[in-house]
Amino acid sequence: KAPTADENVAVIGLGRFGGQVAESLTRLGHEVLGVDENTKLVQQWSDRLTHVVQADATDEEVLRQIGMTEFSRAVVGIGSDIEASVLTVLALTEVGVREIWAKAISVKHGKILRSVGAHHVIYPEATMGERVAHLITSRMLDFI
Ligand code: ATP
Repeated sequence: KAPTADENVAVIGLGRFGGQVAESLTRLGHEVLGVDENTKLVQQWSDRLTHVVQADATDEEVLRQIGMTEFSRAVVGIGSDIEASVLTVLALTEVGVREIWAKAISVKHGKILRSVGAHHVIYPEATMGERVAHLITSRMLDFI
């Protein structure tokens, strides 16, 4: 069936985080475009996602060429390379992506991402650490 704008999601950076987001979105029925500059990763993901492209996502012109203007939602999974992460979010805002989710590896990184236009900032380690603490606490209550 033809994808609607709502079912399209671009995932940029197919590392552990981005890869998991892309795989889960695919399983949930979304059309996913995976983007990574690493050729090997792109090959690995090619038969698991709807489309996969090898590209430098920090370049606004490149984003236009790979059809990012068709996407209303994008997830940026680039983390440790803060410069690439920030420039990618900036480029996505410039091509007009309306809903940008971006992973941050520190609070300051998250603040920068927000200031350049990310709508949702995710802190995977902090969030998961907090969840684990809650899980441990609730399990302890089970024994009281
Ligand atoms: P994770 O913990 O999710 O594995 P990470 O925090 O270590 O990721 P990085 O390794 O910096 O994050 O980036 C994740 C992915 O993003 C990598 O596969 C990398 O090739 C890709 N990436 C980095 N810079 C760019 C870029 N400019 N354009 C496209 N992809 C990029």
